[in-house]
Amino acid sequence: MENNINRPDIMSMTKDELRQYLTQKLDLPKFRADQIYEWLNKGVGFEGMTNLPKALREKLANELFCSLPEIEEKFVSKIDGTVKYLFKLYDGNIIESVVMHYSHGNSICISSEVGCNMGCRFCASTIDGMKRKLLPGEMLGQIARANADGADISNIVMMGIGEPLDNFDNVIKFLHLVTSENGLNIGARHISLSTCGLADKIYELARESFGITLSISLHACDDATRSEIMPVNKKYNIEKLLTACKDYFITTGRRISFEYTLIAGKNDSPDQAHKLADLFYKYFTADSKLLPIHVNLIPVNEVKERDFKTSSRDAVNKFAEILNKRKINATVRRKLGPDINASCGQLRRSYEQKKTDTLLDTKGSRV
Ligand code: SAH
Repeated sequence: MENNINRPDIMSMTKDELRQYLTQKLDLPKFRADQIYEWLNKGVGFEGMTNLPKALREKLANELFCSLPEIEEKFVSKIDGTVKYLFKLYDGNIIESVVMHYSHGNSICISSEVGCNMGCRFCASTIDGMKRKLLPGEMLGQIARANADGADISNIVMMGIGEPLDNFDNVIKFLHLVTSENGLNIGARHISLSTCGLADKIYELARESFGITLSISLHACDDATRSEIMPVNKKYNIEKLLTACKDYFITTGRRISFEYTLIAGKNDSPDQAHKLADLFYKYFTADSKLLPIHVNLIPVNEVKERDFKTSSRDAVNKFAEILNKRKINATVRRKLGPDINASCGQLRRSYEQKKTDTLLDTKGSRV
């Protein structure tokens, strides 16, 4: 049976919605919803629901759509065990997820869109723009499939391909699904969402009252530099962004995390470290010993289509030292999965490229 997107997506339903659909539309008893919901959250599609009669599995496949992605390829780092999945979506589009192992548990970095429209100059995910937004079930499905593959996920970071706040309604539905005690039941404190800075959506997110950790891709301490590397800054400048962050902190009580990608000669000087510290003091007053923020310093991953160079070890350490001396909690991010191209968007691109090259070889023209 063809998986038809025009039907309701079972993977994007809450358990109550599923129960209602099954009892009212398909005239099924309630316990079927329990069985089916459990399968979906274990990353199993209709065909694998072995405690359902075959006729019922076929009926479900005829009436509903299932957005659960398929594992297309899997890469395991020999260095640190980091796993990268290329998932194939129902329409053939490819996205990436990365599973990382920490002492506090396993964490998955999931994608929220196919490609991205934000245009950050250093990022591989945005090079061909955004093809489409992911459904809530496609975000949940990345975790469910990874778990089915043995990942045992306890933490989620929405920091893969796409801008989650550009896909706001589906992300909110996903957060309801994944935090639900009927579902994977992952606590909001174990979830973080990274944004390039869509300030108006940050206010809305605060009012959804999940209390997830907000990560801001800041990457610069002044508007001129930020606008040059992140076009979104022309719409929401640093002042608008940090005012929204302050509101998020006041409304949710959650410490904000800032990402700062260090690019040689662009944003990595000691002077810029001091300006960054000044900025944080301006918005997050230091009445306690430490500001309610954390800064992740990330030496930029060189992307072959972009000409940014990564900062030297010295520049990175100096930058961290200045922030720490000014009582700003800053750490340099450990690079995981260096042998499997684990950073954002690069693998999807090389996969798409390979596909195109193969097609060019056999057919002689681009399709
Ligand atoms: N759109 C969201 C989430 C996806 S990007 C956001 O902007 O936050 C996830 C993180 O990876 C962001 O902090 C982004 O700025 C960073 N990133 C993208 N390309 C990178 C690169 N080449 N090197 C280092 N970090 C990069």
